[in-house]
Amino acid sequence: MASRSARLALFWAVLIVTAGVTYLAFRPGARAFTIARDPEQNVLLVTIDTLRADALSSYGGLAQTPNLDRLASHGARFTFAHAHTVVTLPSHTSILSGQLPYEHGMRDNSGFRVKAATPTLATRLKARGFATGAFVGGFPLTKRFGLTRGFDVYDDQMPETRGAIEISMPERRADLVVGRALDWIGRQNGKFFAWVHVYDPHSPYKAPDEFASRYAQDPYAAEVAFVDHALGPLLDRVAALPRPTLVVVTADHGESLGAHGELTHGMFAYEQTLRVPLIIAKDTKEAKDTKGAKDTKEIVIDSPVRHIDLAPTVLDLLGLDRDPALPGSSLAPVLNGGDRADRPSYFEAMTYNLVRGWAPLRGVLQGRTKYIDLPIQELYDLAADPDEQQNLAGAQRDRLPVLTNLLRGFNVAPPQRPGRETAEAADALRSLGYVSGRAPAKAAYTEADDPKRLVAIDNDLHKASELTQNGRRDEAIAMLQSVIARRPDTADAYLSLAYAYWESGRPQPAIAALEKALAAGAPDRDIRIRLGLYLAESHVNPGRAIALLEGLSSEDVEALNGLGVAYGDAGRSADAVHTFQRVLALDPTNGLAFQNLSALALQQALSTKGEPARRTGLQDAESYARKAIDADPALPDAYTTLGVVLSTTGRKPEAIDAWKRAVDLDGSQFNALYNLWFELMSAGRRDEAVVYGRRFVATAPPAFFAPDIARVRATLPPG
Ligand SMILES: [Zn+2]
Repeated sequence: MASRSARLALFWAVLIVTAGVTYLAFRPGARAFTIARDPEQNVLLVTIDTLRADALSSYGGLAQTPNLDRLASHGARFTFAHAHTVVTLPSHTSILSGQLPYEHGMRDNSGFRVKAATPTLATRLKARGFATGAFVGGFPLTKRFGLTRGFDVYDDQMPETRGAIEISMPERRADLVVGRALDWIGRQNGKFFAWVHVYDPHSPYKAPDEFASRYAQDPYAAEVAFVDHALGPLLDRVAALPRPTLVVVTADHGESLGAHGELTHGMFAYEQTLRVPLIIAKDTKEAKDTKGAKDTKEIVIDSPVRHIDLAPTVLDLLGLDRDPALPGSSLAPVLNGGDRADRPSYFEAMTYNLVRGWAPLRGVLQGRTKYIDLPIQELYDLAADPDEQQNLAGAQRDRLPVLTNLLRGFNVAPPQRPGRETAEAADALRSLGYVSGRAPAKAAYTEADDPKRLVAIDNDLHKASELTQNGRRDEAIAMLQSVIARRPDTADAYLSLAYAYWESGRPQPAIAALEKALAAGAPDRDIRIRLGLYLAESHVNPGRAIALLEGLSSEDVEALNGLGVAYGDAGRSADAVHTFQRVLALDPTNGLAFQNLSALALQQALSTKGEPARRTGLQDAESYARKAIDADPALPDAYTTLGVVLSTTGRKPEAIDAWKRAVDLDGSQFNALYNLWFELMSAGRRDEAVVYGRRFVATAPPAFFAPDIARVRATLPPG
């Protein structure tokens, strides 16, 4: 009890200290902005991913954003709004649920699912008779992650583009998302709640040409300008509806763009990523028609507000009862000029703790004071130092106990560790720049675990991945070895290092790197799977491969696929088949399991002597390969295997087509390249054969293909 009352006393001390600081709720000259409660209005929530608070032109940004500026001109624009976390899925869960991350439990994009019991604006408004539609633009918000509940329609179809490198796009353009939302809105007769999420400002910054060329010096601004352009028709449409619409526009987080050494977002929680734009407006035909008078109507609010206030605000403006379980409070009094409450705000950045075992980042905002609770503590006065250049923690040490106590008033228990993510989801997240994996929690974190000390490690890992993608493997290997020397528990450094060795045809150092990772205590699930696969595929030690993979969960489909391959390589075909069937029982659309069954059936058919068994084996192989392609039309190995079946059964032209598809999807389908050379030569199509032969010779790793390379090279014309 003694410590509890001491904590309360410190908490009140904070309020007294900051009570003397007042924020102008309204800029001079502006008049109060009233949004009347109206149970019959529509609600449109627009979330713009990765939009910095200073990016819109109404906020002083470089990009021209006339549509959102016009919206702000007849609504309220908040200059000091904050997110509670700096990654997409957890932040959107806070926006929609009104709960803090430790309440809804979503701590990262990878390995978490929204709990069925979490009430959101969708579930609440659906229960009140609203039609509900969600239209999302980025992979982290697709259906699998669980924000779907309460929505009649949850539109998350990402277009798939096929090419040599990129298999599918984990995002879709804002104009496509808006188009789907407009179709749906056009079909609504009653009141609706629509959530429109646009992803374009997220990296990579590749706006459509017109915008990219207009902002050639600032590709991020080009994305922001494009998003505003794409949202124009949506804002115009709701303004033209007979029923008024409450419009809320915000971002899930911002973007560092190099500030504090961070390129994108997720590692730190400085203002570049934590502060977000927020516009609340009631869009009606009359409001739109008065746009010429915008200077007199714009309301700018400097009071601190938070994402957790948005759900209570919407409920309040619809005349619905306040939910006492929600930690935030309605902004209606702020909008109407009455409320100057201080609203302390909890925030966190957990990704690097969960994935890499770095110190968890938590903090609290109290007025313009910001405290970041890391092994190297940080304290900023945002009024005097908005860019957080001056850490006052050393000079004003006496203020820290007050702030750590305020933070402890929120929940600071270690976050639950993430669950397994499928290989496909992990790949999609990786392609968006998100790390995934699972590091164990530590009892204590030291200054060596502080992300400020480790930011160079993260940048080097990004550089190494770029070097690998550009074929500069030796430089990548050197950089990854340096990362491992500095931070020996970085699992993704070992995985990238092993991959770089493996792809350059050096299985022994690839395997050694992964063995070293296990010895160094790096988080081990992904490492065990990769090591098991490499041991099995290189036939170095199938027994150890099986032991490693059998030690993983019997529900882990990625591990099971690896185990099946290891059984197959060890000659235990029946165990292999059983294991792939188990994958399909867990995940009936697992293309890789079908492909593995196909490859196994093919291998057996080609090694058998009896004709009926051979014929049955080939039929099975073909049927499994086609099922694999049905399940995953972008699975290159399935086309390679299918090609072998087709060729073996005399369907040569079809075989050639299948292999061409395989090498289109994946330039390192070396078996398909070799087969194309061979079949085209046999068919007398020498010129075509030479093209594939040259590609094979130039790219296939000699460690695996030396005799084949020699055979092909002997037939190639000089030059
Ligand atoms: Zn995001």
